[in-house]
Amino acid sequence: MPRLTIDGRPVEVKEGATILEAAGLLGITIPRFCHHPALPPAGSCRMCVVEIEGSPKLATSCSTPAAEGMKVSTSSPAVKAARRDVLEFLLLNHPLDCPICDQAGECSLQDYYMEHSCAKSRFPAELKEPRQKRRLIGPHLVLDNERCVLCTRCVRFCDEVTRTSELFVSGRSDASFIDIREGKALDNGYSLNLADICPVGALTSREFRFRQRAWFLEKTPVTCLGCATGCRAEAHHAGGEIYRMVPAPGAENAWLCDRGRLTYRPLRAGDRLKKGFIKNGYIDLEPAVREAAARLAGEPGAAVLGSPWLSVEDNAALAALARALGTGNYCFSFTAESGIKDGILVNKDPAPNTAGAAEAAPTGGLDLGELNRRIAAGEIKALITEARAAAFIKGRLPDGFKLIVFATNRSEIPAGAYATLPYASYFETPGTFVNYQGRRGVTGPVVPPPEGVPPLAETAAALAAALKGDGA
Ligand code: SF4
Ligand code: SF4
Repeated sequence: MPRLTIDGRPVEVKEGATILEAAGLLGITIPRFCHHPALPPAGSCRMCVVEIEGSPKLATSCSTPAAEGMKVSTSSPAVKAARRDVLEFLLLNHPLDCPICDQAGECSLQDYYMEHSCAKSRFPAELKEPRQKRRLIGPHLVLDNERCVLCTRCVRFCDEVTRTSELFVSGRSDASFIDIREGKALDNGYSLNLADICPVGALTSREFRFRQRAWFLEKTPVTCLGCATGCRAEAHHAGGEIYRMVPAPGAENAWLCDRGRLTYRPLRAGDRLKKGFIKNGYIDLEPAVREAAARLAGEPGAAVLGSPWLSVEDNAALAALARALGTGNYCFSFTAESGIKDGILVNKDPAPNTAGAAEAAPTGGLDLGELNRRIAAGEIKALITEARAAAFIKGRLPDGFKLIVFATNRSEIPAGAYATLPYASYFETPGTFVNYQGRRGVTGPVVPPPEGVPPLAETAAALAAALKGDGA
């Protein structure tokens, strides 16, 4: 456990910790471009240099281990001068894009210039070397080489995290630039992490570009419901609209996959359901609920199928609906192979709540095999569930079968559905989910639902009340 002093303050650190980490323990933030806590160190940008007593040269704090008895200065005149020089060098050919750059407001170069330099450029603007701008390098990313500070975070991410190595530094010296290998596209399933880790606006997200300024965004913690891993994330939103998702600060998942990051997109999609949908036409929610209740009450073999895509609370509401129906035909038990399938984050189980769906279920009930057998045998003639869970029903639905589903978007409605009821997504209403390791997370609400679209539990309760009314 080495003990050292940084800016005159003592600190004790774990063996192998760097000076930059030791400074962090004291609340001293050393500026850095190439260092990222979840990537191997590069020690290349020189922005994090510090002065160590007795050492002839400044040292990069991100790659120098803290050692017993070290006396470190993070703000000596030599350190300050070195930082100014690094910033002057990085800004030589940097474009004056800040007013239109999406990184403005969260750009390390902009912030460090204000904090550590504020010097006027000695380099004539007309000698600036132009670089390629606005290059599409994958389905989600735009590369602007003029803004790049060659920190290589993006290269190391593709080499070390996804191990797909699409990016590399091309050229030498001041002609160096980030390039993509011939014939490759940056489409490794985790590419949007590069827009987060790029410290400047050189890599920006096509989904976020020019849509919202960083300083208008509110941040709300959420659980990603894209699969059973249940990554901890933060939804950035303004004016009732979500603009992006990023990993939650301090979360064990340093990254999010691209699919998980974009799970908010259906919220404002053109096919978002704001009314009920029966056969081929929209209908107000109230008559849609009455019609669904009539179809369920009218079938002696009506069934309720929970869903691993729904929260614990909404599965409980479906369980209460099964009780109101007085049916023994219900199923809330799901099994799925789970575990990380790509060595990074994505789970084999695509549903976020396989573990939690059964929690609120009544004891007894059917397993999926028996439910399918009874449907095929014509013993069950109507069933209510959530749209994606309808895929658990195997084979063609028997003629006249009344499938009633809850869905957020029209594209989710399964073939053969008789009636669809809209519900508020978990960005719009709170819900508890249990991930594949048994970790519970409560997510939402982040933004309000479309007018007139209630949480699923509310509509399920209205259905149960309508059923009881029918039976009275
Ligand atoms: S594109 Fe961004 S992350 Fe990649 S080297 Fe340039 S500044 Fe660094
Ligand atoms: S791995 Fe799963 S939980 Fe994590 S971000 Fe991707 S979809 Fe979401």
